Amino acid sequence: MFRTATCGELRLADADKQVTLAGWVQKVRNLGAMIFIDLRDRYGITQITVDEHAAAEVKAVAESLGREYVVQVTGWVAERSAKNPKMETGEVEILAEAIRVLNVSEVPPFTIEENSDGGDDLRMKYRYLDLRRAPLQRAMMLRHRLAQQVRRYLDEKGFMEIETPYLIKSTPEGARDFVVPSRMNLGEFYALPQSPQTFKQLLMVSGYDRYFQIVRCFRDEDLRADRQPEFTQVDCEMAFVEREDVLEVFEGMMRTMFAQTLGVTFESDRFPRMSWTEAMERYGSDKPDIRFGMEFNDMTAWVKGHDFVVFDGAEYVGGICVPGCASYTRKQLDGLTEFVKRPQVGAKGLVYVRREADGSYKSSVDKFYAQEDLAAWGERVGMQPGDLLLILAGAKKQTLAALCALRLEMGDRLGLRPHDTFAPLWVVDFPLLEWDDETQRYYAMHHPFTSPKTEDMEKFFSGDMRALGDVRAEAYDFVVNGVEVGGGSIRIHDGEVQSRMFEVLGFTPEEAQAQFGFLLGAFKYGAPPHGGIAFGFDRMCSLFGGSDSIRDFIAFPKNNSGRDMMIDAPSPLAASQLDELQIAVAKPEA
Ligand code: ASP
Repeated sequence: MFRTATCGELRLADADKQVTLAGWVQKVRNLGAMIFIDLRDRYGITQITVDEHAAAEVKAVAESLGREYVVQVTGWVAERSAKNPKMETGEVEILAEAIRVLNVSEVPPFTIEENSDGGDDLRMKYRYLDLRRAPLQRAMMLRHRLAQQVRRYLDEKGFMEIETPYLIKSTPEGARDFVVPSRMNLGEFYALPQSPQTFKQLLMVSGYDRYFQIVRCFRDEDLRADRQPEFTQVDCEMAFVEREDVLEVFEGMMRTMFAQTLGVTFESDRFPRMSWTEAMERYGSDKPDIRFGMEFNDMTAWVKGHDFVVFDGAEYVGGICVPGCASYTRKQLDGLTEFVKRPQVGAKGLVYVRREADGSYKSSVDKFYAQEDLAAWGERVGMQPGDLLLILAGAKKQTLAALCALRLEMGDRLGLRPHDTFAPLWVVDFPLLEWDDETQRYYAMHHPFTSPKTEDMEKFFSGDMRALGDVRAEAYDFVVNGVEVGGGSIRIHDGEVQSRMFEVLGFTPEEAQAQFGFLLGAFKYGAPPHGGIAFGFDRMCSLFGGSDSIRDFIAFPKNNSGRDMMIDAPSPLAASQLDELQIAVAKPEA
């Protein structure tokens, strides 16, 4: 046998056994009479000791070892005199009888230990070395375990794992597509799927009433910290269901994963549900972190008519009451003003009211508002002595978003958003459509296959363009701690409703036919009622792993410019390849 034990498994009970280990040299300490080698594999680290009794050739090999050499060691398990309680194998060492170098290594560009000295870029370039480190191996193991839990749970519930193609057709809705030229069909292109959406719906038409897939999706969008151009979804679809059937199955999946991975269970037997409208009014977000209060107070009607132009001219004035922060200094308040003025937050300024220990009020707008006015606000928002009321004003949509960012920031500062408490939530009843001023048209808020709510169907078919904005969708998102982990909907399964949807989105019947004819065609052959959901698997991993970054849970991720630093992609094509595809690349503008 190449090895009889891993580097993570030997304990005191194994003393006096002869073993063979294989792994990487993490560190060598040569004390002259004794040489200690930390030998590592993905199971752990074991100390190898070459002492004065070792044969001269064993000593010579040990002395020649460098970091990350690959070696096979045979020896005896012995109790250590100086035990290391921080190491799982810290009570034993292996007294080496033979050491065989299986491969040498150049000096690695950074230390491969629990904490590395390498910067981000360097570690991305040498990702295969970074992946040797324990934190990344734990992340990969977590991902693996979560994937197995998903498969086990869904299999038990009768779901079938079915693959769908990666080379599909580009469609105009949604994010930007990645495209792939076709050599066999010159001048034509495939697109990589943004999700298997239409395919999973077609599988429902085909009668596979419970489908799932852990599948790669591709979106050519600008990247943010928690986005990757290719990412993984747990993609699911069910036929003969209503919303509650879908929520029940996937709530069950999430409960199972929380319990199996973190030992976390939830008291209530149903995760809370909140309408989109309520979520926006109370938290200014369709993915609220409901672990703490500081809910929004719509102050618009209370503040007008005092000659304070900022409030008088604002479409929306909203405030959050922050407990115990009245003692914030001038500098801290200036810091908050700077925070809300950041372009990502987008507010113009910040108004504060503080309630002093004696119950009186002080504000940054004392010139315009009397003590009674401030007291009236304080009363309405439930301010206690010591509390701080933070107020933003402006256009409604932007102000809600800015206040949401401020609320989360205050939650972070007050330690109300730890990584080890979880508040799951279903946000339901999203608007079906979103109006875009720039292009003067409606866009599907979720995607064009989401069904309007039955109650709103009449509005949906009415000719009133404005009323369309009020039509609600049978759509839902699964949210945990302010992060959207999953989203889905009950689908349109009626050709007429689907055609109307395309019409509302501005497609002519011919365009709809050209782009989505296959789906409209399928709906003519007995499409069952159906609905589904997709979870962002990378995000799920980061949630369970207690990290904000999905990159840590992807073996080979891209950087913020969509680059794989290790293989150096994307890259130019050879002229011969371009010729074969009959593609000419325009020179980039100087
Ligand atoms: N395909 C959708 C998405 O990727 C999810 C769904 O509706 O099932 O967001």
